[in-house]
Amino acid sequence: MARKLITFDFDWSLSEQDTDRWVFEVLDPKKRRQMKTLKATVQWTDLVAMKMKELHADGKSREQVEQALKDMPFHPAMKRGLENLKQRNKDVDLVILSNSNQVYIQTILEHQKIAHLFDAIITNKAEWTEQGCLNVSRRVDPNGPQHNCAIGCSPNMCKGQELEAYVAAKGGWEAYQKVFYVGDGGNDYCPLLHLRSQDTALARYPRPLIARIEREGNLKCSVVKWVGAWEVEEILDTL
Ligand SMILES: [Mg+2]
Ligand SMILES: [Zn+2]
Repeated sequence: MARKLITFDFDWSLSEQDTDRWVFEVLDPKKRRQMKTLKATVQWTDLVAMKMKELHADGKSREQVEQALKDMPFHPAMKRGLENLKQRNKDVDLVILSNSNQVYIQTILEHQKIAHLFDAIITNKAEWTEQGCLNVSRRVDPNGPQHNCAIGCSPNMCKGQELEAYVAAKGGWEAYQKVFYVGDGGNDYCPLLHLRSQDTALARYPRPLIARIEREGNLKCSVVKWVGAWEVEEILDTL
């Protein structure tokens, strides 16, 4: 049994920007500024949903949103590392675990021509209306049972519980010889608590995840710091 799992956060981990913020920086910086204030009182996924509706009402088209996503920075080394890994090693599952949304991520992966490399994308829901408005909604329906994570995950999704559910569906932790988790944000700390001693967290520096690991500790897995995507590629090249 040599199967490996590599789980990627998307914003500032697999990609070189934050999708939710980038779209508004490109298409409507005034809304981007408003989000900075509103995020203190409105749940982030709900805030993105609200601002996307306003963007549509203001006349911005589906094509403009898609173009902004295609223009978002993506490191060629990350892309190359994943392509080479999947070609060389069929015993690796690649999964995205992200607080962005299905449409943003799918649009970018297809534009970068790497969508076929991923086995699962676990994220918030999103769909285009016929009029070209992007409807974004939480992965965990606010009207249904809540995840009640005690580690601090936002109500839209608990990354630890989502990782646990994915692994369980694949036959449990014994199905994987080694699990990697590539992340940068404070909400990437919860899933790391599920990793074992043989697993590795690849935490981007200088970003909030590193700070949380140093402050709260309590991890069984090893932690490797990285700054540039080329350093993740170096690790992928060894698998
Ligand atoms: Mg991130
Ligand atoms: Zn959690």
